[in-house]
Amino acid sequence: MTRLVDAHFHLDLFPDYARVADDIERRQIYTLAVSTAPSFYRRFRAMLSERRYIRLAVGLHPELAERHEHELPDLLLLMEEQRYVGEVGLDSSPAHRATAAAQRRVLEAVLVRANALGGRVLSLHSRRAEADVLDLIGHHAPGVPILHWYSGSVGLIERAVTLGCYFSVNPAMCRTPTGQRLVQALPSARVLTETDGPFVQVRGRAAEPGDVTEVLDHLSRVWNVDVETAARTVYENFARLLQV
Ligand code: MN
Repeated sequence: MTRLVDAHFHLDLFPDYARVADDIERRQIYTLAVSTAPSFYRRFRAMLSERRYIRLAVGLHPELAERHEHELPDLLLLMEEQRYVGEVGLDSSPAHRATAAAQRRVLEAVLVRANALGGRVLSLHSRRAEADVLDLIGHHAPGVPILHWYSGSVGLIERAVTLGCYFSVNPAMCRTPTGQRLVQALPSARVLTETDGPFVQVRGRAAEPGDVTEVLDHLSRVWNVDVETAARTVYENFARLLQV
């Protein structure tokens, strides 16, 4: 059985994170555990012993960008030792549009830093700001961008692909007609799986990395291959981007 991949998961937001971490290791699921602020990353890193399948990413979520902007220097410092960065990005939805300036300062600084350090793997949030995020990626060439829960237009996908972006797809995206239309338009060589737990629910509870099987079931139908082949494609994509 091919290894599963969860390229965007909030392990630190689970009260029983130790149990979830043990489960990830037992099931050997490659998991990118994103964080929403450098202080949370530091605290969590101290709590979790070294794991083989869990990679911690240091980030500053756009929804927290203004309130935690004072942590930006620490984020830029941590990026020296940490090649996984996330969750970062922009959010121009009505609830968060007011902090656009702080969001942009944070993201630009992160992208400039990623480029200066020779490239980083970044898990990017881009809700209602997809074109702006792509502009910044194009301008700063930060490494390997992964567009997490991409929900922009089908028309922008080609540009994202040209810029080297990967797309991490979660169960919620596979349930709506809009999400399904997007998933169908993604080139299979750029698709990863994610859960975004606990923000995505599966059968009435917070999604955990093992729930990427729901995405693989969907991808196998879209790509017209068996689930094992879909899982292998995703694993190979993940392995490729980690080598960069
Ligand atoms: Mn997230």
